[in-house]
Amino acid sequence: MNYKPETRCVQAGYRPETGESRIPPICQSTTFFYGDSQKMADLFDLKSDGFFYSRLANPTVDALEKKIASLEEGVCAIGCASGMSAVTLLTMTLCRAGDNVVCAKEIYGGSFNLFSVTLPKFGVECRFFDVNASAEEIETLIDDRTKFIFAETIANPVISVLDFSKIASLCERHRLLFVVDNTLATPILCRPFSLGAHLVVHSTSKYLDGHAAALGGMIVDGGNFVFKDNPRYPDFNRPDESYHGLVYADLPVAFGTKCRAQMIRDTGAIMSPQNAFLTFLGCDTLALRMERHSRNAEKVAAYLSGHPAVEWVKYPSLPSDPYHRLAEKYLPKGMGGMMSFGIRGSVKDCARFMESLHLITQETHVADVRSCILHPASTTHRQLSEQDLIAAGIAPNLVRLSVGIEHADDIIADLEQALAVVR
Ligand SMILES: *Cc1c(COP(=O)(O)O)cnc(C)c1O
Repeated sequence: MNYKPETRCVQAGYRPETGESRIPPICQSTTFFYGDSQKMADLFDLKSDGFFYSRLANPTVDALEKKIASLEEGVCAIGCASGMSAVTLLTMTLCRAGDNVVCAKEIYGGSFNLFSVTLPKFGVECRFFDVNASAEEIETLIDDRTKFIFAETIANPVISVLDFSKIASLCERHRLLFVVDNTLATPILCRPFSLGAHLVVHSTSKYLDGHAAALGGMIVDGGNFVFKDNPRYPDFNRPDESYHGLVYADLPVAFGTKCRAQMIRDTGAIMSPQNAFLTFLGCDTLALRMERHSRNAEKVAAYLSGHPAVEWVKYPSLPSDPYHRLAEKYLPKGMGGMMSFGIRGSVKDCARFMESLHLITQETHVADVRSCILHPASTTHRQLSEQDLIAAGIAPNLVRLSVGIEHADDIIADLEQALAVVR
């Protein structure tokens, strides 16, 4: 489909036949009927498309997968039970014990735990780099068992912006996969495949759903990487005995097929039809919402940066932000709704500020239509001392704000009256 992203948000993924429901029905069935055993055999041999068991594929999930593949301009997408399962399945599709992953330090806490604690138990090592490190420094981490480089477009929660060309040129030189978590930018603000990435993951639980209603994840295959005869990927170049001796590198969609045929099959971590349905509806308004989130956040950031009770603000639209230049280059349509700022005062002052908010609610979730806020030092990270907090890169006065789609004036007025309590 050659339509613009705004059009694809509402039109891609599903088109009914005469008399069928206008939006994809929730196909709440574990299995599918076939009167003809040859048809079923062709499905199992991957000779034809179709559904046989909802642990592998389901029509409602399929509609959402097609919509997100279209928005990202990839060749195939795979719906997973959560963002974390998407990152896990992607890694399991590419790595075996003894392999390693080169990963930005500045990533979502759940992904950081997966890479730093859980995967090493299975023999997959993770080598972390600072997003600001030079290409030469990052290159020293790559060896012939490195399977991919992983980073987030806009990192949660530090709000750094990825330097795509730095990583893309490294990956090109080493014939290495470049994997991007595009959750906080969404395909509306950034399309990683046009910037050198080969695979994209999403937590659809954030902006794609947009309503804090459904957990989900998505892996998108750009179809732009050559596995064939690439010595880095022997598992793509020899027959898969567990799947009729298939050689994935010979297929038009190598990664996507391997991921579904092996990892979705063996782990069962597919998205549920109900969650796919809710996320499909959410994506209808994604372009509209991302525009509003971004405009609101720009206004809020400008307001906060001029407030005497605010010590610092991290949002890349601000000319003083260290990622301003990268954001202008890679996020020209907007930078999303996530920001953080520091309150001039003690942890107690921060808590008083938080308690004084009326409209903006305290939540651990981010990136949905409602503005929400979190003070890690007095909630999620309250067991840490001030020194431990600083060592973890979380200033005791740091407040994380996810700007919603309410009227910007109302969001700013709420912040204003709560900041007055601190001053
Ligand atoms: C939330 C999040 C995840 C994890 O997604 P879940 O759906 O909560 O499992 C992964 N990456 C990023 C950037 C996130 O914000």
